Amino acid sequence: MVVAARRASARRMLTSFHIQNENLGWLTGLEPATARTTIWSSTIELQPPFRACEATKIPAAAKGNFFSLIRMFKAIISTRFLGGLAAWFIFQCALTAAPTVVIDAGHGGHDRGGMPGQRVPEKGYALDVAKRVDSLLRNSGFRTVLTRRGDYFVTLADRCAIANRNSRAVFVSIHFNGAPNRDASGIETYYSSGRESLDLATAIHKKVLSSTGAENRWVRSRGLYVLRHSRMPAVLCELGFLTNSEESRRIASSAYRQRLAAAIASAIASRYR
Ligand SMILES: [Zn+2]
Repeated sequence: MVVAARRASARRMLTSFHIQNENLGWLTGLEPATARTTIWSSTIELQPPFRACEATKIPAAAKGNFFSLIRMFKAIISTRFLGGLAAWFIFQCALTAAPTVVIDAGHGGHDRGGMPGQRVPEKGYALDVAKRVDSLLRNSGFRTVLTRRGDYFVTLADRCAIANRNSRAVFVSIHFNGAPNRDASGIETYYSSGRESLDLATAIHKKVLSSTGAENRWVRSRGLYVLRHSRMPAVLCELGFLTNSEESRRIASSAYRQRLAAAIASAIASRYR
């Protein structure tokens, strides 16, 4: 059953309300803090400037139920179902526009990352950029989770398990590249599948390229373990070649790593804010 939302006030509104069954429903769109929205039955009413966002799962209607969900936005939504019944269902929902961001620093511990025998280890720079992204996102109000916080080994399965504990999240894995060809350089961004992962990968990729001027090695689809096993939009960034002496020199600069981190954080923030 799909019922429609009618706007009451303010700029960002609920777009639609879907009830799958007695136990599950979705709200699509954003609701301003003080809006009162009436949910009507039959058709979906989409009025500009509605802006769709990812549907947020909520428990479905039960007469008189009150729901208190997630965070950020609070809305009082009354629903009336077809049939002319004077049954009004009141929901108190707190929708979130900002997902938890799971930041995964590649490698760690005995796993240095990169090529066998690579002079500059990948794991330290990956952690450094992950921590910078973490702090930037937290400062702009996101909840974040790091899959590792120090120089220790975490299995790929554990990284995904940490990510999958979060009900509404996006996953960003931070890596640096290495290749036998010492001339190889540039930045590439991976996703496995799904439109939202692709869009997130594209947004991050563009921002990182424009703020570093690095060579474009494109957004690529690859079934990497952490991307396939994280049940959320997931992206893996390869932020340059440590086997390329010039690119490696740039990466060794903390100002450059801050620029990488700022580009990633700002791409995420502008997509989910
Ligand atoms: Zn790596």
